[in-house]
Amino acid sequence: MASLFNMPLTKLKRIGDKKAVLFAKLGINSVGDLVRYYPRTYEDWSHPYKIGEALVGEVCCIGAYVERISPPARVRGGLTLLKMTVCDGTDRMGITFFNQGYLYDRFVNGGDFLFYGMLKKNGSFYEMTSPTVSEIQKAGIHPVYSQTAGLNSRQIEDAVSQAVKLLPEKMNDPLPDELRNRYGLCPLDFAMHNIHFPKSLEDVEIARKRLSFEELLVLQLGMARLKGGRKDMTTAGNRIVRDYTNEFFAMLPFEPTNAQKRAVKECIDDMSSEGTPMNRLVQGDVGSGKTAVAAAVCYSAVKNNMQCAFMAPTEILAAQHYNSLSSLLEGCGINIRLLTGSVKASEKKKIYEELENGNADLIIGTHALISDSVSFKNLGLVITDEQHRFGVGQRSALISKGKSPHIMVMSATPIPRTLALMIFGDLDLSVLDELPPGRQKVDTYLIDSAKRARAFGFLKKHIDDGQQCYIVCPLVGQSEMDLESAEEYIEKLKITPLRSCRTGLLHGKMKPKDKDKVMSDFSAGKIDLLVSTTVIEVGVDVPNATIMMIENAERFGLSQLHQLRGRVGRGQQKSYCILVSDHQGDTTRQRLSVMCKTNDGFKIADEDLRLRGPGDFFGSRQHGLPELRIASMSSMEILDLTQQAAMDILHDDPQLEKKEHRGLRFETGRLFAKTGSDQLQ
Ligand code: ADP
Ligand code: MG
Repeated sequence: MASLFNMPLTKLKRIGDKKAVLFAKLGINSVGDLVRYYPRTYEDWSHPYKIGEALVGEVCCIGAYVERISPPARVRGGLTLLKMTVCDGTDRMGITFFNQGYLYDRFVNGGDFLFYGMLKKNGSFYEMTSPTVSEIQKAGIHPVYSQTAGLNSRQIEDAVSQAVKLLPEKMNDPLPDELRNRYGLCPLDFAMHNIHFPKSLEDVEIARKRLSFEELLVLQLGMARLKGGRKDMTTAGNRIVRDYTNEFFAMLPFEPTNAQKRAVKECIDDMSSEGTPMNRLVQGDVGSGKTAVAAAVCYSAVKNNMQCAFMAPTEILAAQHYNSLSSLLEGCGINIRLLTGSVKASEKKKIYEELENGNADLIIGTHALISDSVSFKNLGLVITDEQHRFGVGQRSALISKGKSPHIMVMSATPIPRTLALMIFGDLDLSVLDELPPGRQKVDTYLIDSAKRARAFGFLKKHIDDGQQCYIVCPLVGQSEMDLESAEEYIEKLKITPLRSCRTGLLHGKMKPKDKDKVMSDFSAGKIDLLVSTTVIEVGVDVPNATIMMIENAERFGLSQLHQLRGRVGRGQQKSYCILVSDHQGDTTRQRLSVMCKTNDGFKIADEDLRLRGPGDFFGSRQHGLPELRIASMSSMEILDLTQQAAMDILHDDPQLEKKEHRGLRFETGRLFAKTGSDQLQ
């Protein structure tokens, strides 16, 4: 396959430079990428029905000949209509195409065709509107590819079919024979042909199983190798010789939870050892007290003469961390600085000097920290917040400013353990599975839109009491619709009791600067009600916000809902989350009711995984993982199998140096190349 990845798409017929650009939009840059671009789903055209036998109201494939057709006609609104009648020898069906006048030439001479679409009945007449059409000889299973503007599934299919023909007769299979036999997986060539052009849906399953297995295996091998890949040793200057944790805990205004104590100890142990430096993920639900853990570790690090850097994804979050760490470490004699893009040049210059001469102990900031001007005297600990926002590459840019510094990654996204091991395979894991005592639960209600007016009244009452609210409003699929839907929503609010509230709007199309402005106005209490289409900045802390209302709640994953809900319940006041959904489906109701029952992020994540399968975790891209092509449709079972298989392989051959593992090694490098990680090449 290697050479096909070097072959440009323009080598294929009917693909010129312009088309190639469209393919690139889909992430397809070579013929090799094309054969690895798997169908999204399939249409079964293998058993065409007669009109009278097909089920009305369902999508089906009907075989019939063209009996009557009139030339395309222009109607009002610039629409072109093409109408015809087809017959299967017994029954007749009317077909209408919109804006597809060019099909006329294809039908005008009559002949047999297959029509794939939704069959409807109007009185005693059968009808289809704009079905997909194919010549009768092409009965079979048809692949359906995710398309992009200007490039439809059929054109992709045409390119794929040329690409598949270029595959060598005997393909190099990255999966060793022994492994394939053990897990009952088909060979690569069978999989490649059948994932695109199968003879039956059973063959699709066989191919899919094998390809997802390979993809998940490669992913896990790659993650495990990244973890094993860190070969550097803790330098003498970066070792914790004396642990100051108890001294720090004694200064805290509260008693740390057992989970916090455990996490700090795990970090200190890593940092005291003579082996590889710490590489640890500290995962904890919203409010579990991650900041105090970070502060404790920084305290010991600084007392052992290291400098620490703490990077957050946005200016707001950086400022928040700066404030909370400053207050936790107040009076400790630790010099803390904040460095973001908006810090004045003169101030920046001063900070650069202090970092270089070692006068600043702890620097908190945004990407500004990875600027070339920043250098440290002895950077010993790098902390990044909200891991998924940073690519592997950005993290390593900061890391490279120290000599083998310790790394701590903090994440507030609870992920089930099985997945965490895999997603963060390159990190050790500490989990804060306990909230500080006395936390109040956010009461959560599921309502339908009939009750919306009452909910607005509820919001109004709290706003009149001086509290603040969020409304997350419908995401209308495409991001272009984003703005429109939010503005429309605000328009609608004008005829509700909420019209008198000071309302702010936050959406995906806004410039970061404008977003920050709205957020800080909300923080400062200058806005009562924040309407947002995008996910409100993870980690933003406005304790006076007490109600979160989420429209079309069914469109969010549970974990996402949990994240959103975490924006309230941060202060002294009782807080509420209102989920609005008109979906009546059992699974939806069941999913959303989980939110009403528990506030425990890990329980919610487990439930989400159980109800939706692992696809969403991979699909969301929020974990900085390479994008998966097929395994996102696979099951937990394959995930477990590949976890085992990866361990077996690495146990036998940690660096994948054996001849039979060469293919797997190549595929790991390829998968991870796209994340900006070059360690696996
Ligand atoms: P998160 O894990 O969401 O980052 P924070 O570190 O921001 O949580 O902590 C949330 C709040 O809880 C802060 O105000 C912090 O001071 C407080 N807190 C942290 N640990 C404890 C504890 N053990 N007992 C009481 N309050 C705590
Ligand atoms: Mg936090």
